[in-house]
Amino acid sequence: MLQLLPLGRQKRNNFMKILTINSGSSSIKYQLFDMPSKRIIKKGFIENIGERGSRIKDHQEGMRLLLKNLPAVSAIGHRVVHGAEEFRQPILIDKRVISKIKRCSKLAPLHNPANLEGIQACRKFIKDIPQVAVFDTAFHHSLPDFAYIYGLPYGYYKRFGIRKYGFHGTSHEYVAHEAANKLGKSLNKLRLITCHLGNGCSITAVRRGKSIDTSMGFTPLEGLLMGTRCGDLDPAVVTYLQRRLKISAEKTEYILNKKSGLIGVSGISNDMRRLSRAYRKGNKKAKLAIEIFVYRIRKYIGAYTAILGGLDAVVFTAGIGENQNIVRNKVCQGLFLGLKKKPKILVIPTNEELMIAKQAYDLIKR
Ligand code: ADP
Repeated sequence: MLQLLPLGRQKRNNFMKILTINSGSSSIKYQLFDMPSKRIIKKGFIENIGERGSRIKDHQEGMRLLLKNLPAVSAIGHRVVHGAEEFRQPILIDKRVISKIKRCSKLAPLHNPANLEGIQACRKFIKDIPQVAVFDTAFHHSLPDFAYIYGLPYGYYKRFGIRKYGFHGTSHEYVAHEAANKLGKSLNKLRLITCHLGNGCSITAVRRGKSIDTSMGFTPLEGLLMGTRCGDLDPAVVTYLQRRLKISAEKTEYILNKKSGLIGVSGISNDMRRLSRAYRKGNKKAKLAIEIFVYRIRKYIGAYTAILGGLDAVVFTAGIGENQNIVRNKVCQGLFLGLKKKPKILVIPTNEELMIAKQAYDLIKR
């Protein structure tokens, strides 16, 4: 079973081994970091939790197996998807924090309960180790109210918490810091637009290290076109579809989340690799899907350049942002023609796990 490291001595030496846990509905991904060197000691994942025929019946069992095979750790950083307005920064987990994360679950019913399963299992097997929750939404807490309040009756915000929250915060924050390092400038002096383009896609305006607007909203459905999600849409389309197809709210959500986006438009795939191959072979639907994808990104970059009052760099990250030159080139083509000083274009691999480890480390060190 897992060993604990004596925290007092480690803190004095500023040396810790931080385990990061990303607990999803049927999987647990982990990485063990040596901090502050950032070296990965071990990483892996456990899949098919609770699925038919799997020998791992629940997260507790998964976590028990995972911890059994790990060397000593000093602290754990957990990814938690939704922190609502409760959590604006990483926090040490205790019973009160757990019940608040539970309360946030109504806003992320697919994610927060799975994240909590991981937290509870760790608390069961390793009681005396500090555990830190790091929230996907936290980086966007700096949005001003005029950016996060929707044009709905204000009471819905107060009663139901309906507002823009934004997601992928850990990734946007990480690449913003890395961009400042690359540019050799203080983050405090920079205006950045960070584009996280993976299966889920979001784009954030970062001024002086703070998120001032972001494309995902109340849920991760708003904004850019994504692999299977529609992104921005006239809300009247939703009720129109429900009436025309006589479908339930659940079925409508399913169509918007799983059957739309790149796969919905192209009818080929949600995978940009397959789509760009089809595009090169002259497939018209693949071309249209990629054009919509690119057009939305360009539109957001234009809007965010305006609200930032200028732009020092655009940062591309995640599967598509890091690897698909065709998308990056199309996004940037002629985009800054009118600007006297051209912004830098940076490609920076995201590393959400390292950011979680770093935030857990910094919190515990303090
Ligand atoms: P997730 O959001 O699930 O973490 P990724 O960040 O891996 O997903 O992004 C998935 C998208 O990135 C897919 O559209 C895929 O085609 C594209 N992608 C991932 N890796 C590569 C690669 N090496 N070359 C080209 N495209 C890639």
